[in-house]
Formats: sequence, C-alpha cells, structure tokens
Amino acid sequence: MSLLHPPALGGPPDPDSPPPDPRRDELLTLVGELTDTQRRANALAAERYRALDTLRQRWEETYGASMSADPSGIRFRSMRAQIAVVLLMPERSVETQLATARALIHALPATFDRLAEGRISDRHARILSDSISGLPHEDRVLLEERLLPAAETLAPAKFERKVRLAVATLHPEQLEEKARAAREMREFTLEAAADGMAWLHHYLPAEDAVAIWNRADATARHLAGSDEPRSVSQLRSDVVRDILLDDGVLLPPEQGEQGLRAPSKQNRGIAPTVQVTVPVLTLNGVDDTPGILKGYGPIDPETARRLAGTSTGLQRILTHPVTGVVLQYGRGRREVPVELRRYVVDRDEICRFPGCNRPAATCDIDHTRPWCENGTTDHDNLAAVCRNHHRVKHDGGWKLEQDDAHPGVLKWTTPIGLEFTTEPAAPPATRIQGGRLGSVLVQTEWAQADPEDQPPF
Ligand SMILES: [Zn+2]
Repeated sequence: MSLLHPPALGGPPDPDSPPPDPRRDELLTLVGELTDTQRRANALAAERYRALDTLRQRWEETYGASMSADPSGIRFRSMRAQIAVVLLMPERSVETQLATARALIHALPATFDRLAEGRISDRHARILSDSISGLPHEDRVLLEERLLPAAETLAPAKFERKVRLAVATLHPEQLEEKARAAREMREFTLEAAADGMAWLHHYLPAEDAVAIWNRADATARHLAGSDEPRSVSQLRSDVVRDILLDDGVLLPPEQGEQGLRAPSKQNRGIAPTVQVTVPVLTLNGVDDTPGILKGYGPIDPETARRLAGTSTGLQRILTHPVTGVVLQYGRGRREVPVELRRYVVDRDEICRFPGCNRPAATCDIDHTRPWCENGTTDHDNLAAVCRNHHRVKHDGGWKLEQDDAHPGVLKWTTPIGLEFTTEPAAPPATRIQGGRLGSVLVQTEWAQADPEDQPPF
C-alpha cells in the first residue's frame, strides 16, 4: 500500500487484515494532500525562478544592464531596485535570487528540472546551486549527477553536509584557499526582534566561534547551581554580554585551576555607546510614549528612562518641543547647513529609497528637485538617500518628487513607470506662519543647567 494514498475500497474483505478504520483513512488522505501541496510549491518555486531569470534577460537587452559583466553597474542596480520594491525584499536578497535563478537554469539544468517536477524542494536546489554552480563544468556535472538522488531523500541539513563533503573531497587542495576567501566575509550585525529584544549575528571563522561558545558555556556552567535562578541558556547569554560590555566579568578556570579567574584587563576600556531619544514627558514620568533606541527602534518607556539615567558611555538625546528652527534656506545656499542636515537625518532615520535600511546619518542629503533645476535647500526638498540610491536616482532612470501638501513624503517612479511612496520616520515639520516651522528639536543636553529644572535622574 502506498503511504500517500488511502487503501483501495471494495473487493472481498481479507479475513486477516484489520477492520477498516475511516479515521485512519482520512489522516492518510490529509498526508497525501500535504505532500501534493509541497510538490506544487516546489514546482512554483521553479516557475518563479524562470520569471526572475526571464525578466533579468529582457531587462538586460532593453537597458544594457549586465549581471555578469557589471554587477555593480548602475543599470543592473536599477533593475535590482525595481524587483526589490515590487517584492518588498532587500536588494541583496534580490541579487542572490537572481544569481540562483541563473545558476539553476543555465548551469544546473538537471537540478532545475527536478525542482520544476516538484521532486526536490527550493531549499535543496539552493544548497546545490550555492555549493556547485560555480565549479568547472566537468566537476559540476559529476557532482550534480552524484548528489541529486540524495536531494529527494535527505532533510536539508543532512543533504547540505553531504554536498559540502562531496565538494571538499573533490579538490581538497582548494579548501584552504576557499577558507581564506570566506574569512574576508566575516561580519558582526544587529537584527531587531520583537518585545524589546534583538539578535547579534557574528559571522566568523568556525574555530573562533566554537572557542567563544565554549568559553561562554564553561563560565555559565560554573555559575549555574542550586542558588542560581538563571538557566544555563540565560547564563551563557549574560556571560557573553558581560564580556562585551562590562569590566567586571570573570573568566572560566584554566586547566587544573579551581574557581573563576579575574579578567586580564586587556582590550578593555572601550565604553559602549547607546543613543536613546526620550520624549521629555516620558522622562519625567508624566507620559508613557516609547523612547527610541538608535539602531533598533521603539523601546518601552521604563527602559528608556533607565537608559537616559545612565550617564557613562551614553549619549543623552532628549526631544524637546521647540519652535523657530530655520529649516528653509530657499535658493540662498546649496550646501545643507548642519542644523538642517541634522533635522533631515532625524526625520528620515534611514535612506528614503523604498526598502533601503542604511542609516540616514551615513546618507547623502539629496535635493529632491536638483539644485541645478532650481531646487531649494528646504526641508521639503531634502531627503536622506544613500550613495548607492542617490546614483540610482540620478543615473539609473528613477524619478523623485516630494509631496507639496505633505513635506517629507517621497514619491518614487521607477524606470518602467511604477510608483512607490515612502514616509519619513518621524512626523515632518508642520508649517506655521512667517515662514518658520515648528518641529521637534533633538538636543544633546538640557538647555539650562537650572538644578530645580532637571529631570529626575
Ligand atoms: Zn539607499
């Protein structure tokens, strides 16, 4: 009997077989539907790759872009941006998917066929494409033929291990060179998560990663005990945080030693910096508007108050309602004055290109209507746009307008005529009489050092 189909009905009952069980039949049918859905999803993934690859080829023919010849060229970046804004995906991911589509369709046709038939998953296809599509033709064909059957039977993690082993043993002499190249990709990144939490990702050589984990684990297990309310997982997390942030951390014992060691004090003394913006009413406990932790986003009022009260290594930034900041320079000067630049950076927080997350502080301040076309140096004609997207705008055929009625709201038009609107992170300035604008001013210190007037910290 096939696992995926209910047993056939009818015919004379076999006296030895168990009595028919309709509930079991229903479950078998449901499992069959599930595997069928998975097969169709696999086939759809192939169709999606086909669509991506066809779009890439047509775009390249139309605009002269080239992913292979000039992946950092403005025409390719313009195409990548167009796909990213319709799929709501980061441009880097789009680039990866374009590369996977091309690799599967043109370099690994047998793998692509199997995906299109629904027999292997997108994940399995990507594992193969990532690991072998860049190899010389003979190696590629050999490995594809050898590994494809396993893609239909092994779970992704096991399959990946098998693929990695097969690639490594094919040319062991290249392992060292590849490891050296991979080391160049090491990085340390922050990813915001829900409920006031965040992930730190550290991509680094495996031996360092294992050593760091072992150190945290050894210290955590040493601290764990019947008096310690924290779990070993929590302790590991706290140990790593303490090592990175605090001076007073203890180290696990060396071989043959008893108890924890005091820190060496080497490589210490780098004060961590956290920038937090706290509305003044929240700080005073009058109001519970969330604070903003730079590099993360909104945090709960209690944590914001606590951070604002911590002075060491902390840049205290308090928002204060102030009127009368000049945000309009008209045609008076092309260069954006520091105060106005700061206003735009605070308003935008990130690059204003759809989907881009580069911090505004590292962006260009772009004249929406260019200065050479009579554009003004006013808050409602300025926006933070990263260097890459600044070039995509100027040379990649994207058009940009700022809404007259809603300063700070940007309308982008792609080379093929699609439109996307992006909103500023903070509410933009509102017009008041006399050409001056009311706004929220970010200040680094309290204006007056009147002790009676200080917030409670
Ligand atoms: Zn950008």
